[in-house]
Formats: sequence, structure tokens, C-alpha cells
Amino acid sequence: MITVYKCPVCSSDQLQFIRSYEVIRDSRLTREEIREGRQSYENEMLWIFFNEILPQESSAGFRLELCCACGLIFLNPRPSDEELHHVYKTVEDLDLPKKRRDRQPFLKLDKRARRIYSVVSCLSSSSAGKKVLDYGGMHGQNLVSFVKNDFQGYVLDFLKFELCPGVEYLGADVCDLAEGQIFDVILLNHVLEHALQPVRLIESIVKHLSQDGLIYVEVPLGCLQEWQLVYEPLTHQNFFSEESCYKCLRMCGLDILYIITCNQWVYWDKTPCVNIVACKREGNTVSHYKTTWEQMDRSRYFWMNFKKTPRKQIKKTVKSVLSRINQTCKLFWRI
Ligand SMILES: [Zn+2]
Repeated sequence: MITVYKCPVCSSDQLQFIRSYEVIRDSRLTREEIREGRQSYENEMLWIFFNEILPQESSAGFRLELCCACGLIFLNPRPSDEELHHVYKTVEDLDLPKKRRDRQPFLKLDKRARRIYSVVSCLSSSSAGKKVLDYGGMHGQNLVSFVKNDFQGYVLDFLKFELCPGVEYLGADVCDLAEGQIFDVILLNHVLEHALQPVRLIESIVKHLSQDGLIYVEVPLGCLQEWQLVYEPLTHQNFFSEESCYKCLRMCGLDILYIITCNQWVYWDKTPCVNIVACKREGNTVSHYKTTWEQMDRSRYFWMNFKKTPRKQIKKTVKSVLSRINQTCKLFWRI
């Protein structure tokens, strides 16, 4: 695990501590029990964390930091590339993705695919013969509507799943793509929240995006409430807002055509997500976004800071607020 001192998106060192977490090893869990696939997702990942990443430890602490420059909230320390690769390999060896799906099948896949297609098709011209790549696309379920509308669908995913009709598997990662292999649309759904270096990841992918192509990015609105409920440190590393996602794509030299936050179907239930469509060409771009501060659930943050604030300062703030209320009341009384 690596402690970072700069923001993983914008490299700023203006980091603000938000809260800490501690995870504890459950020594009763065995590899056989995990392999059976009856444990919760959180138990599986905690078992992998303590058995594959920190085998000597019985507990581990984490901090959540907020970057004051780009608004990203992120976990610190973070796993290294090798550790994360080892985690995915263990997940594959234990055949956990299939067991998770058997335990809890995905819902509303068609609805989700239609929604993504409708957002992208509103911003692109004709589709015939165009190529669409879903990075981390699993079965290619998000490509179904694209394929029905004459796109050629491709998937890159670390794990090889059974694919939807008309979708082709190209490999585990960007390095498996041929030099100069270009796509007209790239989907990056629920990937950036896992990425250790989101900017580096996007830059490597958009090398394969055509000059007129579109990249569709979807991330959970992690800054809302998810940052308050981190059960294990291996899955989501980043907790995005419109602001941090927007700035992340701008750091890669992309122009933003569309940005929205909505409550939408993702796998098993409705989740608040940020959707962005970006492109390489310069043109009509969106310059407005909601800031992390606007989208964040600040109630817990407020109470944590309240506990730390000296009583003298609290008294002063309360006195100032009461004085303002008093002045406003007097003003109304005169009117
Ligand atoms: Zn930042």
C-alpha cells in the first residue's frame, strides 16, 4: 500500500483530511468459504486484502482526503498497480464474479443499455459501421443497443466473460489493442472510481478514439454518501463529483459536451451517477458543473468538525448568528 501526498487527478498537494477508517481481519474466514461464494462482497474483498496484500496484519487504517483544487475525494494509502493486479487475479482464480452474479443477478440491463445509447446517439452523427469499445465492459451488455443500431461492438476487460451476440472480446487492457486501432465511441462505465491514476488511464484510452469520436464516462456520485460508508479499501479508490470528473477529463485535453447527475440503474439498484460525454475536437463545450461542496452530504462532515472546534469559537459563531437574526427582526419590525 502506498501513501500519496498529491491528488491522483490534478497532482495538487492541497489535501484536506475528511475522516479515517479502520478495517479488521476476520480470522474465522477460510479460502474454502470464500471460494464457495456465499460471503458478502465486502467480506470477500476484506479476506483478499488481509490474505493477499497484508498477510502479517490484523487491522489497517485509512484516511479519506479531499483535494481542494479539483474536488476529488480519495482513499489514502492506495494499493500499488501490482497489488491491484494481484487482487483481480485472485478474484479470477476464485471465480468470484460468476458466483456474485448467480447470487444476485443484474437488473434492468436493457434499460441501462438503451439509456447510454440514447445519450451518445443524440451527440453523434450516423452510426452505420462505426466501432464502439466498452472498457471494462464485462459481457458487453451496454453495447446491445449500439449493435442493434449497426455499430460494431468490442469489449476490453481483465476477465473474459460470456459475450452478448455481436460483441467481440479484444483483450484485458489497452495494451492488447493494436497500434492505430481506432474507435468512434468509447464507453468508460464505472471504471474511474477504481483507477489508481485516472488521468493516465483516460489518456491511454483516448489514444484509440477517433478525432470526431465521443467518450462516454459514468461514475457513481461518490462524494454524496458513499465516502461515509467505506467497508473495504480495494474496490473504490476515488469518490467523484461533477467537478472532479469534469476536471479529470479536462486534464486529459478533452472538451466536455454534456454533463449531468442523475439517479439511474446500475447492476442491482438505482444509484446517483455523474454522466459525461467528451470529445477531442474543440467546439460547443459545457463549462458549468456542480462543485463537490454542492453535491456532498455534509452532515457527518459538519458534526466531525463540530466536535473538534474549540468551545470558544462555537460560542462566537452562535453569538454572531443570533446577532444577525436579531438585526433582521428589528429591520422587519421597523418596516
Ligand atoms: Zn485534485
